[in-house]
Amino acid sequence: MSGDLAVVAGGGGFIGGHLVANLLGDGHQVRSVDLKPLDQWYQVHSEAENTVADLRLIDACTEALADAGDVYNLAADMGGMGFIESNKALCMLSVLINTHMLKAAQEQEVQRFFYSSSACVYAADKQTDPDNPGLKESDAYPAQPEDGYGWEKLFSERMCRHFREDFGLYTRVARYHNVYGPEGTWHGGREKAPAAICRKVAEAKLSGSSQIEIWGDGEQTRSFMYIDDCVYGSKTILDSDILEPINLGSSEMVTINQLVDIVEDVAEIKLERQYDLSAPKGVRGRNSDNTMIQERLGWEPSISLRTGLEKTYAWIFDQAAGLSPAQ
Ligand code: NAD
Repeated sequence: MSGDLAVVAGGGGFIGGHLVANLLGDGHQVRSVDLKPLDQWYQVHSEAENTVADLRLIDACTEALADAGDVYNLAADMGGMGFIESNKALCMLSVLINTHMLKAAQEQEVQRFFYSSSACVYAADKQTDPDNPGLKESDAYPAQPEDGYGWEKLFSERMCRHFREDFGLYTRVARYHNVYGPEGTWHGGREKAPAAICRKVAEAKLSGSSQIEIWGDGEQTRSFMYIDDCVYGSKTILDSDILEPINLGSSEMVTINQLVDIVEDVAEIKLERQYDLSAPKGVRGRNSDNTMIQERLGWEPSISLRTGLEKTYAWIFDQAAGLSPAQ
């Protein structure tokens, strides 16, 4: 039954691995596609059809989307601030993935197409205040996104819109705000702040060190969305009649210092903080304004940072301690 086959591009990644599990749980047939060899996928679900392919290539996209109903494009060359600030060309090359995925989706006449955009599309001058009241969807314009990664996301959002308007392809776009949880990148240079802080605290706990290094002065603000909210929100946005890109993020804003406080509390440890003011730190203040998602879906991501970090820290601690197979 072709309409029942969901394709997850980037299924070997953090969010993709959780989405595949969830779609299988809903009873879908799932094809999961990723560039990485299978042994590097965060989760391999044996009930899914797992395929290794380079989705920058149009032929690979055509093959990946054969008989597809729903398509979730999560594939991108990405990471936290440390990665995207020094790999702008690599980030922009992800435009090949979404371009060819859209073309293949149109040719294969898939039913619905979901694209994972990012809060990095928002204009830099709207994120200079740590007391950021929340970024509204309209704050992406006039365009001044994160250089490299954010420009690619903004361009790809627009390409989804024009495939919808000009070719009648059903497209939906969510702007994810910093997603975290177990089974994701936690070391190696592509990890984001919540995973990096959990790893540093776990390593201090394991080694007996009393210090932790923090990028910047720790007073930059962010909100963090737990993975379960991200998966639910992505599916719900795909089901919705929301045509324009919409925020999918938590509105529980904290400073990085407060994030460290919570992880220390979960780990039952107190560390001496060393601030690296020369490290990449991104914008000064970022939060998700959830007015639109509340109005349109009557829902917003609501799993508390404390609850999500308890689960994430436990998983990263086991990884750092070598208690689970290394990723
Ligand atoms: P991830 O890096 O864990 O997953 C992305 C996957 O895409 C990786 O497994 C990677 O191997 C795969 N990929 C890269 N190039 C590919 C190619 N040419 N062909 C096939 N697969 C390829 O990242 P994630 O956190 O799961 O993010 C998923 C999506 O959500 C990405 O598009 C990302 O930009 C977006 N996003 C994530 C966050 C976040 O906080 N995690 C925030 C905003 C947006």
